[in-house]
Amino acid sequence: MPDKFSDHDQAIVVGGGPAGLTAAIALVQGGVATILVGKRPAKPDSRTTALLAGSVTALETLGVWDLCAAQAAALRIMRIVDDTGRLWRAPEVKFECGEIDLDAFGQNIENRHLVAALEARARALPGLRILEDEVRSVDPDDEEVTVTLASGDVLRAPLVVGADGRRSLCRDAAGIGIDTRTYRQTALTVCLTHSRPHRDTSTEFHTPTGPFTLVPLPGNRSSLVWVLDPAEADELAALDDAELSGEIERASHSILGKVTVEPGRGLFPLSVATARRFADRRIALIGEAAHVIPPIGAQGLNLGLRDAASISELAVAAHRAHHDIGGAEALVHYDNMRRGDVSSRSIAIDLFNRTLLTDFLPVQGLRGIGLYMLDQIGPLRRAVMREGVAPRAVQPRLMRGQAL
Ligand SMILES: Cc1cc2nc3c(=O)[nH]c(=O)nc-3n(C[C@H](O)[C@H](O)[C@H](O)COP(=O)(O)OP(=O)(O)OC[C@H]3O[C@@H](n4cnc5c(N)ncnc54)[C@H](O)[C@@H]3O)c2cc1C
Repeated sequence: MPDKFSDHDQAIVVGGGPAGLTAAIALVQGGVATILVGKRPAKPDSRTTALLAGSVTALETLGVWDLCAAQAAALRIMRIVDDTGRLWRAPEVKFECGEIDLDAFGQNIENRHLVAALEARARALPGLRILEDEVRSVDPDDEEVTVTLASGDVLRAPLVVGADGRRSLCRDAAGIGIDTRTYRQTALTVCLTHSRPHRDTSTEFHTPTGPFTLVPLPGNRSSLVWVLDPAEADELAALDDAELSGEIERASHSILGKVTVEPGRGLFPLSVATARRFADRRIALIGEAAHVIPPIGAQGLNLGLRDAASISELAVAAHRAHHDIGGAEALVHYDNMRRGDVSSRSIAIDLFNRTLLTDFLPVQGLRGIGLYMLDQIGPLRRAVMREGVAPRAVQPRLMRGQAL
């Protein structure tokens, strides 16, 4: 089989989800010829993503945002409501974007619209080859990585970006282990229409099984992520539309009025997982190939987009300096750039989730005190908001609106 692209291509991205598409677009716009190999996901993605302000800026900078902005809804207010019914109930906390001089914390968009916009942008870039195929093996050596496809084609490049999701073949090929903890929780996802306006407000009810989070979509629509005991999630997912709508209206205390579920439900068992290294042997991991975190606080893909922006920035800089774009120097730098951001958010969300699930009164009390302090102390609340939206330590160029 001929090595179709081996002479000229410098990076291969494996995985055509949102993280892989973003990396491929960024690499090509920075002048690194790239092949994206992605197989179609087994089923449609019914989730939405709350993209925080830095992620929106990066997508604007890459020419993607214009293609999907009309399908996104601004997040201007975020409410946390203690609905645990426990002895130590926390006060309601409200974050308003104007407090930190932002027009919005971010934008919520259905994943199908986001991925369609990324694909449209990717297809418009002449330096990007897109192969709808499955990667069967990835074999790194000192000089390059050999990638073999289901079609039998063989590709070679000095850098592979592994964006192939949580069961990553690229991660295994790089010899990188992953630490995983599974929770006895499942997220039920569905989009809704409702009779009352959401007023650009996302509301997170904290329940004894996990958060029940409503996030605005354009018009009188919202997305729901309902974290439940797995058996309860299965039962709810099996209800007909009218019954499920009624359960959601009850659990949301009718804040959005009458609720009607739309077609398309998802069930996602929750876990937290972090790769022990984010790069090795000419393979850099991004998105869920590198880290999985529970859908609390809208961090997962925002981290994945910062991974994509970071590896692209480093590879483009190495390419311009005529250095090895997949060499140890670039990969060690990438690992250092991403470690603190990923670890701090994974640990914080894991701890927060466990304080919700615990029956241990002192821990419930501590969570209540933490939320009380957030409610009462303006500078603390503003610092948490700023850090949540745009971590100061790790803002790759794209997140600051600077092209590569
Ligand atoms: C319920 C829920 C709600 C969430 N809400 C948010 C949110 O509001 N904000 C947020 O930031 N994050 C959120 N997340 C996280 C976010 O959805 C994920 O981080 C994101 O989807 C991961 O994208 P990815 O591109 O890394 O992986 P994926 O979307 O899994 O993409 C991987 C791609 O690789 C392809 N692939 C795999 N193996 C191969 C192979 N061998 N060859 C070729 N292709 C391959 C797959 O087909 C797939 O297309 C949520 C997660 C859940 C579960």
